[in-house]
Amino acid sequence: MSSSRLPGFYKLKMAERLRRLAEQIEGDLDGLGVMGSLPLANADAMIENAIGVLGLPVGLGLNFQINGEDVLIPMAVEEPSVIAAVSLAAKIARDGGGFRVEADEPRMIGQVQITELSNPELARTQLLHEKDALLAEANALHPQMKARGGGAKDIEVRLLQVGGETHAILHLIVNTQEAMGANLINTMCEGVAPLVERITGGRVRLRILSNLADLRLARASCRIPFEALSDFGFSGAEVAHGIAEASLFADADPYRACTHNKGVMNGVDAVALATGNDWRAIEAGAHAFAARNGRYEPLTRWWVQDGALHGSIELPIQVGTVGGAVKANPLIPVLLRTMGNPGAQRLAGIMAAVGLAQNMAALRALGTVGIQKGHMALHARNIAVSAGAKDGAVEVVARALIAAGEIKLHRAQEILAKMIAHGPSAEVQ
Ligand code: NDP
Repeated sequence: MSSSRLPGFYKLKMAERLRRLAEQIEGDLDGLGVMGSLPLANADAMIENAIGVLGLPVGLGLNFQINGEDVLIPMAVEEPSVIAAVSLAAKIARDGGGFRVEADEPRMIGQVQITELSNPELARTQLLHEKDALLAEANALHPQMKARGGGAKDIEVRLLQVGGETHAILHLIVNTQEAMGANLINTMCEGVAPLVERITGGRVRLRILSNLADLRLARASCRIPFEALSDFGFSGAEVAHGIAEASLFADADPYRACTHNKGVMNGVDAVALATGNDWRAIEAGAHAFAARNGRYEPLTRWWVQDGALHGSIELPIQVGTVGGAVKANPLIPVLLRTMGNPGAQRLAGIMAAVGLAQNMAALRALGTVGIQKGHMALHARNIAVSAGAKDGAVEVVARALIAAGEIKLHRAQEILAKMIAHGPSAEVQ
């Protein structure tokens, strides 16, 4: 097991970081530290009308301890401060033993919509009666899934009022094993449709998976002693209460809960991208789940108890370690290896822990000094690059922006122009 504690990693040059990483990971790191890790030919095969490849930074979330094991977390994200923040939160959480995580079996729902029913209640009874035949039909389309211990396992039938008509909605419950499952479920849903029509006498309309993957939930929790939280001149108890209060605010207000959950998804999506997973599916599922009680709610909860801050998260995580873009992009298997090649269920648990840590980092700053101080300091490098700074000048311009207390593009351009005219020493003063 590799250690996720890599002190000073952020200060190293990228080549040194890769050397440090190579000491931790078995196997090569091909594709990391080079440009163009996604060949054009692969890109052309992945989507339609391809005209190029868009680069996105990939970094490592550090310090994570999950179910007692250290894990390095690859994250692909364009926003500064996400990786620094999550790594700091994970470091703080280590003091309480890190994160406990668990994830449900990878069961997803496929929907078959049945319309034009003369007796919807009877159709429902008939479908339930023919459950074995329906499952056999679905599994015949994906025999290997069944052989792996997965495949279609159960059905449910809901009666739903749609535009004044009662439709029967057949849910096919499919264990997708290591796959996210969208394609295989859609194949099954389309494949059982003729049999569904024969059984019910109705007309099948939509046949597709549901991204509200509420049978496939992942959970993470942590307990952080007050001592680990003191910072910014605040005691640990003050920081803990600030986080717990922010959690109550999100509970009470959907305007706040939405932004609270955006912070959670900063981390979750970054891991989804780095592991070749469909982040839109995860986003859709997370937000629908957040609204499951009829109002939009936060995905995490924080509270103070027995001298410690407690946090928990629960959300649907529909991810795979096979299929989709996992093999199409040669960098994905390398990044999965840096995480210790987790299976889909473990990956879901890790992503829940990342979401919880990301949220803690945001609330810790929001409940004390505010988010801008740390964020803008890291954003300064982005502004420096936008102004045209290159190589060593990026850091010099960023530091000058922070010292000036004005992290703006026009200021960076002025600083850079002066640097070009008079040399770097003029700028840092
Ligand atoms: P794929 O069809 O690419 O891959 C899944 C296949 O991998 C399985 O059917 C199986 O085929 C094979 N496989 C090999 N080993 C395993 C294993 N151990 N466990 C499970 N399967 C295995 O992908 P998915 O069906 O997972 O679909 C995900 C893709 O669908 C994503 O790219 C997503 O973007 C896209 N999508 C998403 C939608 C949505 O979210 N609404 C809608 C439509 C598409 P076999 O049994 O034949 O070996």
